[in-house]
Amino acid sequence: MTNIMDKLTALCKRRGFIYPSSEIYGGINACWDYGPMGVRLKTNIKAHWFRTMTRMRDDVVPLDAAILMHPRVWEASGHITEFTDPLIDCKQCKARFRADDVDFDFKDPNTPCPRCGNRGTFTEPRMFNLMFKTFMGPVEDEASVVYLRPETAQGIYVNFDNVRISSRLKLPFGIAQIGKAFRNEITPGNFIFRTREFEQMEMQFFVKPDEDQKWFDYWKEERMKWYLSIGLTPERLRWHEHGPNELAHYAKAAFDIQYEFGFGSDPWHELEGVHNRTDFDLKRHQEFAGKKLEYFDEASRERYLPYIIETSAGCDRTLLVTLIDGYREEEIKGEKRVFLGFHPSIAPITAAIFPLVKKDGMPDIAKKITADLRPHYDVFYDAGGSIGRRYARQDEVGTPFCITVDGQTLEDQTVTIRHRNTLEQERCSTDRLRERLGDLIATYGSA
Ligand code: ATP
Repeated sequence: MTNIMDKLTALCKRRGFIYPSSEIYGGINACWDYGPMGVRLKTNIKAHWFRTMTRMRDDVVPLDAAILMHPRVWEASGHITEFTDPLIDCKQCKARFRADDVDFDFKDPNTPCPRCGNRGTFTEPRMFNLMFKTFMGPVEDEASVVYLRPETAQGIYVNFDNVRISSRLKLPFGIAQIGKAFRNEITPGNFIFRTREFEQMEMQFFVKPDEDQKWFDYWKEERMKWYLSIGLTPERLRWHEHGPNELAHYAKAAFDIQYEFGFGSDPWHELEGVHNRTDFDLKRHQEFAGKKLEYFDEASRERYLPYIIETSAGCDRTLLVTLIDGYREEEIKGEKRVFLGFHPSIAPITAAIFPLVKKDGMPDIAKKITADLRPHYDVFYDAGGSIGRRYARQDEVGTPFCITVDGQTLEDQTVTIRHRNTLEQERCSTDRLRERLGDLIATYGSA
């Protein structure tokens, strides 16, 4: 399975999904840059999330809050005191580990350091705050410290009243946000699984306190459906309930959607958290900001602080899952074929269009098809190299459909559509292509 991560890292670089950051300077640990295909894939994942979570609903609205927030926000949220991980160091080689995330007993003097092999060299665990600090303005003193947000959620809580009043919303309603978050992780790694700069897709749903369980169950179901809608293998997704020792300081109940990533002693890892945060956040901000955040319920004539059901997903982690889940190797007539089986709703390129040869007007027809389809789908025109090579390149970036203009097109205005997963080919008239692609996308995976 680690093998697959190595293969994916190489494929991602070769095909323009993800490159090591600042590579010409030797890279910077656990930072990655998204290339042309990676940006397309990520944009589609975010768009799909946005569509499901807000565009298709009238009870969830979007927000884009600033990354830098008033430092008191992080006191109120508990991040200054609670957002810590236990850190241990090897005194010999200075390697650092998260004490709660290692599969060895660092207290046993016979345990060797996984990095240098020396025994009994670990320090006692000490708590390490994961927030990145910086300074606002020209003076670098304590009073000008600000933090890079470690989650997008707080931007939503502090805007609860702004959004509610300006959008004339009544409970229950949600606020959704996609944005960067920063955590000074002790042990980042496994490609883009854990990085220090990443993107989150979070939605906070505000409810009447006694309706929390109903909405918690509802959002759990909705979020699992979403992962299935982007084509992930159902057997590789599961729920993990946080036990009393795992629960965050703000949570009444928490379930993680886990995916079978394959690395580590336990191959299952968190993909998204669904949390019942109670009224903790609004209560704390009300207290620290000295501003009432209560809601007046006209129906029941009650005044209360809403409870919050949170769905918190990692965008980069979801992207990694689409790569792992989609990666396929097969052998056809002695030749190895590698492809990424992306669902068409998120694939960086929905359809690639090729002229079989660069003559008899085929390139012009293929270019016209590309231009006609472009407003509706992510398309790509390619006339370079043999048709086999062009198919192979599209397989590796996970293009579900390849359209080829050939000799027969000149006679009857039909083209071939090649299906990535099955390699089946069908003929379709050029004037029906847009409609046919729409049908193929809508029925994808249901055969
Ligand atoms: P972990 O226990 O793995 O550190 P967490 O429980 O702290 O994660 P949350 O705070 O619930 O994670 O964050 C919500 C989501 O944000 C996670 O499910 C994950 O998809 C994503 N995420 C969190 N930290 C990182 C990171 N360092 N790199 C990439 N994605 C992350």
